[in-house]
Amino acid sequence: MASTEDDSSASGGASNENVGDNISSMEGVAAGGFMIIDQSETVNQQAEANRTRKITNPTQSMWIDVFGVLTKLPYFESYLVPGSAVTGLLGLTVSFGWVLYQSQIATAPISDLTTLLPIMLGSAGLVGFGALYLELDDESECPECGKRFVYLYDEVEILDVTELEGRENIYHSEVTKVCESCGHSSVEQKEMGPEAIDRLRGKSS
Ligand SMILES: [Zn+2]
Repeated sequence: MASTEDDSSASGGASNENVGDNISSMEGVAAGGFMIIDQSETVNQQAEANRTRKITNPTQSMWIDVFGVLTKLPYFESYLVPGSAVTGLLGLTVSFGWVLYQSQIATAPISDLTTLLPIMLGSAGLVGFGALYLELDDESECPECGKRFVYLYDEVEILDVTELEGRENIYHSEVTKVCESCGHSSVEQKEMGPEAIDRLRGKSS
């Protein structure tokens, strides 16, 4: 049995009938509402609005992946993370104490104070590292299978934006998280600032 396509290319007589059929069927589609999908301004605007409201494939901190690998290393969690946090806190305490001591009692040369700056920055960095680790660990642990650094954002939808005078807008969002390990997913409401939203969109600031 030959298909209609073969018929139209094989004989001119048959193709006339086909043309008639095609026109009538296209009219049917148009009457059924096909005309709504055109390149009008409104359709494009709606598409744009949908694109910006929904963030599919949100960009999350690359540290989640890094920590996921690092936790598998021996001593990383038992010594390195608490060690860096404690060292950082000690460094900050000692340097602030020293500055306080110098300003109250002794008079240290300016050069001593400037050498202290890298120690303070380094200490703050160490504390920040530990804090980030704890935050991301908490955020990315799957409540179902208990695996860590796998429970990631799958989609973020901005439900509403509260515009504040002189302050940053609040984005009321719905976050869908999916476990990379067991597939468990959940939806939670979250309030975020514009920076967090930009980061999720992949526009790192
Ligand atoms: Zn899981």
